[in-house]
Amino acid sequence: MITRIKGTQDFLDLSVYNWILQKTKKHLIEYNFHEIATPLLEPLELFKRSLGLETDVVSKEMYRVLSDTALNVRQAHDQRADDSENICLRPELTASIMRAFINAGIQETPWKVFSAGPAFRHERPQKGRYRQFHQMSMEIIGSESIMQDALFMAMLDTLFATVLNIKGYALLINYLGTRDDRAEYQKVLKKFLEKHSAELCDLCKQRMNSNIMRVFDCKQQACQKLYTAAPAIIDVMAQESVFEWQQLKNMLEELSVSYSVKPTLVRGLDYYNKTVFEFVSVDSQGLGAQNTFCGGGRYDTLATQIGAKNDYPSIGAAIGLERMQLLLEAQNSLISHNIKPALTVVIPLSFEQQPLALQIVQMLHAEHICADVIVDKGSVKSMFKAADKMGAQHAILIGSEEQASGTATIKNMTTGTEVNVPQRDIITHI
Ligand code: ATP
Ligand code: MG
Repeated sequence: MITRIKGTQDFLDLSVYNWILQKTKKHLIEYNFHEIATPLLEPLELFKRSLGLETDVVSKEMYRVLSDTALNVRQAHDQRADDSENICLRPELTASIMRAFINAGIQETPWKVFSAGPAFRHERPQKGRYRQFHQMSMEIIGSESIMQDALFMAMLDTLFATVLNIKGYALLINYLGTRDDRAEYQKVLKKFLEKHSAELCDLCKQRMNSNIMRVFDCKQQACQKLYTAAPAIIDVMAQESVFEWQQLKNMLEELSVSYSVKPTLVRGLDYYNKTVFEFVSVDSQGLGAQNTFCGGGRYDTLATQIGAKNDYPSIGAAIGLERMQLLLEAQNSLISHNIKPALTVVIPLSFEQQPLALQIVQMLHAEHICADVIVDKGSVKSMFKAADKMGAQHAILIGSEEQASGTATIKNMTTGTEVNVPQRDIITHI
């Protein structure tokens, strides 16, 4: 038996997944975003330059793609090997979207787009964490105002609270300031970490010298406990940054968006500056450890990082679609029923009634009613059982009597009541 690759999933029922996508797309379109798509294959360089070499994603989770030709070239120790090997499966969508924006030379900004699809990271698979997962990424490219950040988070908050009806979540926000703010902050943070270096785990000690703010990503409880006492960037930022940060919080309040400030929130990718945020589930039966279902922030210098002539200040976010699905399924077991249209199943009693049954199904389909027919032999009882298993709301029984009298027996599968009606009245009856 050939089994699927570790960390990937077969989606055997996409109804909830598609429902999330449809609702989210409609919501984004109402906020004047439009949908785009970019390739799954990208140059490795794109993510090295955007996410940063020291991030987990780039340093150990990338999937590189090697074609047979590239492999042969490599085995022949050919010089060209270097060019042909540097292709990867995208680990996220934002950098690709920015690349597409630059490649197309788009002049009209803000460019408000969204894109949904798979991303790949070689992580340890667990509930809510996969090696192929799916994101809905949305971006506003080319807009500098902090007001945009407030509106963007308010848009997401409305999506989760009202459109998708998610219960028990929180919006965590932080402000990473400008490059200068971070340079200043890193000195202060370094002093703090040096003072406590004996308490740090090995990874944090290493990060202290390579990419210092990444220490806040540490999964060790002891380190996290220590960091609650760490100095916060908001306390050392320049006056303009303090002002912008205050404006952002004020605007969120004016828009009635609840939030909590989490000073250690830095996000896992290096391209962020100023605003960063996460929507996390606080519902205990929800996602467990993988409780962040949406993360994002501002990335003002990503464009030049990946080779554009000018900076395009931007903000974006990505929703983890598997986590969103897990959350909705845990919170509302009826969701798949609500999503699927009501089903009518036609049951011909024997072979003689099958042609008539098929015509009735055709008539139902012409009226856009979700309908199916049972054509494989069985007893009446087993056919009703099968209709029930299929989730039928109505079953239409066609036996020899019905055939002779031009009628149909309609059974309401929820209440169990049966009525005999003329075949031409079936539609009005269901
Ligand atoms: P986490 O902290 O959970 O590892 P992240 O910070 O790496 O998340 P991002 O790169 O910001 O996540 O991706 C945005 C969203 O995509 C996350 O909030 C999460 O919902 C989802 N996501 C990220 N990695 C995975 C994965 N391996 N499997 C499933 N969903 C994922
Ligand atoms: Mg991660």
